[in-house]
Amino acid sequence: METAGRKAMDALRLKNLRKVVGYALRTPFYQARLKAAGITSPRDIRSLKDLARIPFTSKEDLRECYPNGLLAVPMSRVVRIHTSSGTTGIPTVIHHTKEDLAVWTDLVARSITATGAGKHDIFQNMMTYGMFTGGLGLHYGAERVGMTVIPMGGGNSRRQIQIMKDFGTTVLHITPSYMLHLHSLLAECKVTLKDLRLKKAYLGAEPYSEDTRRKIEKLWQIDAYNSYGLSEMNGPGVAFECEHKNGMHVWEDVYCVEVIDQRTGAALEDGREGEVVFTNLLREATPLLRYRTRDVAAILKGACPCGRTHRRLARIAGRTDDMMIINGVNIYPSQIEAVIMQVPEVGNNYQIILEKSGSLDSLTVKVEISSGMFKGDLAQIDRLKERIKDNLRASIIISPRVELHEPGSLPVFEGKAKRVVDDRAKL
Ligand code: ADP
Ligand code: ZN
Repeated sequence: METAGRKAMDALRLKNLRKVVGYALRTPFYQARLKAAGITSPRDIRSLKDLARIPFTSKEDLRECYPNGLLAVPMSRVVRIHTSSGTTGIPTVIHHTKEDLAVWTDLVARSITATGAGKHDIFQNMMTYGMFTGGLGLHYGAERVGMTVIPMGGGNSRRQIQIMKDFGTTVLHITPSYMLHLHSLLAECKVTLKDLRLKKAYLGAEPYSEDTRRKIEKLWQIDAYNSYGLSEMNGPGVAFECEHKNGMHVWEDVYCVEVIDQRTGAALEDGREGEVVFTNLLREATPLLRYRTRDVAAILKGACPCGRTHRRLARIAGRTDDMMIINGVNIYPSQIEAVIMQVPEVGNNYQIILEKSGSLDSLTVKVEISSGMFKGDLAQIDRLKERIKDNLRASIIISPRVELHEPGSLPVFEGKAKRVVDDRAKL
């Protein structure tokens, strides 16, 4: 399936699209939506082009249907419920049948295998277990592959490091921000990289830049793979990097991916950045058609040398909700991250503060510097501050205030990091 030709893949996708439309039509919500678009039966979907006739589903729609409004099967067929993390509001709910979970597990297993990992690996899952999909989602896929799974969940950093050492963990699943933080604790735990057998990390759940990936790979001497998913589309395993680490293969036999202009809803061609829209072609309990993720990315052009035919998604630039408008300039936090992580003296954490100063917005970037830097040479620190400020100004146009902080002094997040503090509405 991973190397299937377009024709065979599209034939399968069409069959699955009809199936999921059939499930969707069992809910009053989609009955009304689809009827308005002239679709009252799966037979009204004649080709994949008909996908464009289906109206978008938004996060608000899901919130209005909370908790069971989108359920397309009797509750007795539902074997598990997950929700989103609720990063931007009321969590969205997804119900799963046994078959839904089997599809998800297979896709995670496929993703893990694409990174070259397998049954000889010891896999430590540091994502939160529970309603959040990063825990159980990766867990079952890793078991399916035959990896030895250590279901640690998030937090308890010192113990995490101890377990990595004691069991010879070779693969981690973790957020990039927590991965950086964990490195800063190694010395204190008296653990060196030589004591560990770590080879790979699957990094996801939050946006991060290519420079952060490189930094993590260098600090830990490992390969880091970008892992993307969202609870509305099951969770992790929607798109994953293969061994070439050049964008994430979207598993197109199950997920129909589109990139649209966020304002007009018009389709954008491959290579252009916009809002990512997914249809889950194989879901029974909570069918979601053309779901607007609010995540911003582009579909990459060209084939991957690995031979997989599934198109690749570029690194997620951010969420449309995360976009900051600072004195009229649109900026994503990841643009700031990309600049500061290029500076070698910068440590493992940062924070972005927005405030009002008179009628203008002011931007402060707080940056931890790496532990070797605090030698009390004030002139050197001033020069570093100026350099970071100049680099930021060159990249994001506006001029921020830069504060340098001691290593380990900014807030740490074990799950998704909250980088931006927006105090502009405060009096
Ligand atoms: P919430 O939207 O409440 O955070 P989820 O727990 O479902 O809910 O998280 C999914 C979201 O996490 C995605 O929509 C995306 O914004 C973000 N995300 C997940 N993986 C990545 C990744 N590799 N890069 C950037 N963002 C990611
Ligand atoms: Zn590939």
